[in-house]
Amino acid sequence: MAPAELGKLRHDLIDAARAIIGAGGLLSEAADMEGYLTDWRRRYTGEALAVALPSGAGQVSELVKACRALGVAIVPQGGNTGFAGGAVPTKDRPALLLNLSRMNRIREVDVANNSFVAEAGCVLEMVRQEAQNAGKLFPLLLGSAGSCQVGGLVATNAGGTGVLRYGNMRDLVLGLEVVLPDGSLWNGLKSLRKDNSGYDLKQFFIGAEGTLGIITAASLKLFPLPDKSASAMVAVPDVQAAVDLLHMFMERTGRRVEAFELMSRGQIESILANTHVRQSPMELTTPWFILIELADSSVDFEPERLFETILGEALERGLVSDAVIAGDSTKANKIWELRHSASEANVRKGFSVANDTSVPISKLPEFLETVERRLLGEIEQADVFHVGHIGDGNIHVVVVLDRERYADQSDREQAAALANHIVHGVSVDLGGSISAEHGIGMMHAAELEQFKSALDLRMMRAIKTAFDPENLMNPGKVLRR
Ligand code: FAD
Repeated sequence: MAPAELGKLRHDLIDAARAIIGAGGLLSEAADMEGYLTDWRRRYTGEALAVALPSGAGQVSELVKACRALGVAIVPQGGNTGFAGGAVPTKDRPALLLNLSRMNRIREVDVANNSFVAEAGCVLEMVRQEAQNAGKLFPLLLGSAGSCQVGGLVATNAGGTGVLRYGNMRDLVLGLEVVLPDGSLWNGLKSLRKDNSGYDLKQFFIGAEGTLGIITAASLKLFPLPDKSASAMVAVPDVQAAVDLLHMFMERTGRRVEAFELMSRGQIESILANTHVRQSPMELTTPWFILIELADSSVDFEPERLFETILGEALERGLVSDAVIAGDSTKANKIWELRHSASEANVRKGFSVANDTSVPISKLPEFLETVERRLLGEIEQADVFHVGHIGDGNIHVVVVLDRERYADQSDREQAAALANHIVHGVSVDLGGSISAEHGIGMMHAAELEQFKSALDLRMMRAIKTAFDPENLMNPGKVLRR
C-alpha cells in the first residue's frame, strides 16, 4: 500500500476507534505500541495502525465493524505470553491490535453450579484466587499464570500441569461470548454440562487462535478445592521407567495425581545456571527427573504415606533411584519453582526453539531417543533439553542455539526451522501431533501445510471462510491462505 494511502487509513481508523472507546483506550504512537508488537520470546515483531484497549463487549463489536468497513485486519491479544507468534500482527496487512486486558471482570460466580463467568482479560492467577475465595478450584495452571488471560487461554486451548486430572482448557469451558468477524455479538454463555441442541458452536472458537472471532467472556468450570497435598521430585534412570512410574501412580492413587512432569538433567542444570533458582531439591545423578503432586480433600487421604508406599515399591522394581518428598508447601514450592522456570531459563541461555509435540505415551521413549540423536547430529552447537507433561504425551523438546554461533538471523531461522521440522517429523511418524497445547500461530503455519492431510486442510479452510470470508481475523495465523 502506498504511504499516503496507508496514512489516510491510519487516520480514518484512529478517528473511528477514538469515537468508540475514547482517547484513553487507544494507543497510536510507536513508543506506546512497542510493547504490544513483539512476542514473549522476542522472535516476532509486527506492525499495527493502532492498539485498542476496549472496556466492554459492545465496544469490541463496534471496533470490529469499523475495521471491517475500512478493510483493516484485527489481531486479538491477551497477555501476549503465547509461544506460537499468534498474538502479534504480521507486517503484510494493515491491522488493529485489539488487546482485551481492560475487560477483566468476574461477572458471576455460581458456587452451586460449580461455574463462573469471567471476561476475556481476566488474568489466570486472579481467576484462580477468585475461585479459591469462593472455596473452589479453577485447575488450569501454567508458568505464565501471572500474565496470561482467559481469552488467550481459550483461544489457544491451553494445557499446563493440570491436564492429566482436569483436562485442557477445552474441557473447562461451558460457554462463550464471542464477537464474530462481521461485528455481531454471539451470546453462547450457557453454564450447562449437557446441551445437545445442534452443533456445539463454542468449540469452533476454542483453539482457533483468534482466527474465527474475538472471545469476550467465558463460562468456566469449578472443582472441589483439595485441602491436602504433597509433592515429590524423583530420579529415574530412563524415559521408560518414567512411563512405568506414571502408570503405577495412576493405578494406585485413585485419580489423585494433580501433576506429573518430566525434566531432563540438562534442563534443570540450565535453570540453575540462568534463573534465580540456584539449588536443586536433590542431587542430579540420573539423566531424568519426575515432579509429582498428589492432592485431594477426602478424609482418608494421606499424601505423604501414599508417596512413601508407591515410591518404596518403585525403588524395589528399579524404576526409581532417589526421591525427595515435600509435605509442606514451602518445600513443595521449591520443587515446582524449578518446573515453572524452564521457559525463562531457555530464553536466557540462548536462542530457544521450543517444540510442542504430543505422541501416544507408549511411544515417548522412542520419540525422545530419536529426536535427541537427530538434533545433536544435524544441528551444530545446540543444546537439547526436555521438559513437559508426560501424562499427556506432551514433552517439549527445546533446542537452545548458541548466541554467538547463530548471531546471523537467517542462519538462526534456518536452524530453528530444521529443529522444528525434525521434531515434527518424528512425532507425526509415531502417530503424534505438531502442536499439543501452544497452537500454530504464525510459527508453524507452513509446517501445518506439510503435516496435515489435504482433507484436514480443506475442512479447516471451509470453516475459516464460513466465519470470516474477508479474512479479517488474525490473518496469517494457523492457515496462511
Ligand atoms: P496471547 O499470547 O495474547 O494470545 C495467544 C493467541 O490467542 C493469539 O493467537 C491471540 O490472537 C489469541 N487470542 C488472545 N486473546 C484472544 C481473545 N480474547 N479472543 C480470541 N483470540 C484471542 N501454554 C500451555 O499451554 N501450557 C504451558 O504449560 C505453558 N507454559 C508457559 C510458561 C511460560 C513462562 C510462558 C511465557 C508461556 C507458557 N505457555 C504455556 C504459553 C501461553 O501462556 C499460553 O499459550 C496462553 O494460553 C496464552 O495466553 P495469553 O493471554 O497470553 O494469549
